[in-house]
Amino acid sequence: AGGPAYVGRFAPSPSGPLHAGSLVAALASYLDARAHRGRWLLRIEDIDEPRTVPGADRVILRQLEALGLRWDGEPVWQTRRHPLYGRAFARLRAAGRVYGCACVRRELPPGPYPGTCRPAGAPRDTPQASAANAALPAGAPPHPAQRPIRSWRFLVEPGVETFVDRWLGPQSQDVAAEVGDFIVRRADGLWAYQLAVVVDDGEQGVTDVVRGADLLDSTARQRQLARALGLTPPRVLHVPLVVDAQGRKLSKQNHAPALDVSRPLDCLRTAWRSLGFAELPAATPQAFWPEATAQWARRFGAGGPHGAMSSPHP
Ligand code: GLU
Repeated sequence: AGGPAYVGRFAPSPSGPLHAGSLVAALASYLDARAHRGRWLLRIEDIDEPRTVPGADRVILRQLEALGLRWDGEPVWQTRRHPLYGRAFARLRAAGRVYGCACVRRELPPGPYPGTCRPAGAPRDTPQASAANAALPAGAPPHPAQRPIRSWRFLVEPGVETFVDRWLGPQSQDVAAEVGDFIVRRADGLWAYQLAVVVDDGEQGVTDVVRGADLLDSTARQRQLARALGLTPPRVLHVPLVVDAQGRKLSKQNHAPALDVSRPLDCLRTAWRSLGFAELPAATPQAFWPEATAQWARRFGAGGPHGAMSSPHP
């Protein structure tokens, strides 16, 4: 008690219609918001314009409506919010938390960014960074400091970032060693997903992020960025990914078929089972929602395994 009222969100990228995998994330975040009597916001993450499919946003909105997932307030589109990201970037720059980077991706060794363009004075000599620098190919081009800036990177903090995931339990990641300074403004001038998502969650007052486990690995980065911007990182809950018969993540890249929302109850039940819950008696979508919300609340409401609303803000 005493914390901010629950605000959740669903943040699909309009690179295609919703498929069975994206519905699982949508359903979990919707049920979590409803179980906490919170708000559920819809944000269209069209910041990566080259990957946006025209019209996919409208298809997603219609699919959610057909399934009975009702968002609160007006949806927002990231492409209409550029000034917000620009202000956050300026703030990071003024605080010395970002630097221009001249590295070209194909010249970089695989693994964490070695810190090649890190300004002097900022620590770059973690064992991992030294090893990565030593692995740079012979005959590499002149030091990037002599070349034009392409992208902008966030100067990560050393040390291990820890947090509790409400589904997966305690998590930790050494961002400096495992990821390195990451890009917040891309070489093509676009804002990186990491920056946009943190700025948006902060500006929209999101208290709880519920999404697919493929984004678990971004959480530690996002927490560091949030703190650098003076924001409280949201609580997180990552749901298992839906995989196809070959064990690959269902995704638009893998050509997962669009959801056929003409049979809403089938879609909802399949997504519900993917979350590991037992079949519900519901015979209609209208009956599904109260049954599913009550079950979700028993597992993830206040007092659940990882304490949802009763635990201190991580
Ligand atoms: N836009 C991201 C996606 O569709 C989700 C971002 C998030 O939930 O943080 O995969």
